[in-house]
Amino acid sequence: MFRLSQFMREVLEPTPVVRREPPGPVVIWNLIRRCNLNCIHCYSLSADTDFPGELTTAEVFAVMDDLRAFGVPVLILSGGEPLLRPDIFAISERAKALGFYVGLSTNGALIDEAMADRIAAVGYDYVGVSLDGIGAVHDRFRRVPGCYEASLRGIRLCRDRGIKIGLRFTVTERNVESLPSMLDLMEAERIDKFYLSHLVYAGRGDRYRGDDAYHRTTREVMDLLFARCWQHLREGRGTEFVTGNNDADGVYFLHWVRRRFPERAAHIRAKLEAWGGNASGVNVANIDNLGNVHPDTFWWHYSLGNVKERPFSEIWRDTSDPIMAGLKRRPRSISGRCGRCAHFAICGGNTRIRALRILGDPWAEDPACYLTDEEIAPSTAEADGHALAAE
Ligand code: SF4
Repeated sequence: MFRLSQFMREVLEPTPVVRREPPGPVVIWNLIRRCNLNCIHCYSLSADTDFPGELTTAEVFAVMDDLRAFGVPVLILSGGEPLLRPDIFAISERAKALGFYVGLSTNGALIDEAMADRIAAVGYDYVGVSLDGIGAVHDRFRRVPGCYEASLRGIRLCRDRGIKIGLRFTVTERNVESLPSMLDLMEAERIDKFYLSHLVYAGRGDRYRGDDAYHRTTREVMDLLFARCWQHLREGRGTEFVTGNNDADGVYFLHWVRRRFPERAAHIRAKLEAWGGNASGVNVANIDNLGNVHPDTFWWHYSLGNVKERPFSEIWRDTSDPIMAGLKRRPRSISGRCGRCAHFAICGGNTRIRALRILGDPWAEDPACYLTDEEIAPSTAEADGHALAAE
């Protein structure tokens, strides 16, 4: 995840560069596969039906204890639709009691007054709601008429209860024209956070990869997001913009800084290198509804082990698995453009599942890198290096 607002703030108010090692990975936990919607880009291939073999409440609690002891700081409870799990609030309350930062990732359509009260009572640190566009655009993506209005209502009910809420927008060629209106919606509805997710080819997203935003479109999307984020910062709005699933965003941002604030480029480069780009299999983990552990949510075809059989803490440390060994290797060994890229220390070679899906090799370059050859050339890094030495 690329925290755009945080890095932009560094342009205005630089802070010391500190390379922090989180004690454990952020765990995105798909507690249930059942979903009330049927999204065309769903990575978990969910449907409105029960899936056998999901973890019981007791099993979830036992895994949570292990995660806590292992130093996992953040749990993002997801699905399917996590609110369809009858024990979701018991799980969430326990997670809070154990001291996790707890996020809820929901489509929002099931949140009525009573549900919003329950959500507020749990005290989630963050609730993220996915929208793919305004009105009929969203309904078409989700394949359920009226679900946009239901989700927007859910967002408002949470917001009015003081819950930190964010919009998650997955961008494709089919909905990219909705981005400006989504940003307007964020402002009009006083929503705290905007998460722009680049489409990754997994689950149903894989079948729709022909629709992925082309590189030029992605640049336009990022330009728009940068402009809006900068505007919010200048206006002191306190909102947060983040992106996900394309770590080249960090490098693209460095170029934005170099054009506008060349005196800050060395500092921003150092900050971006401390972030380090793609964290799948290192600082990000996924547990699916059956208890299988994956390097992130887009690796569902590849299990590293199952928490019903081995504790997460063991599975996560085990680098006898070749994918896990490759992801944990520092620096990762990536071929092609990424291997030659002058900004590899910022991006980390981007998203491995995309290289696997498109090129058949998890260690090949990421085909969704939207930077030009000039932008990844050594000369663009050397300039910042000199400035850093002088800082
Ligand atoms: S070439 Fe690879 S490492 Fe460089 S910015 Fe693009 S995706 Fe990242």
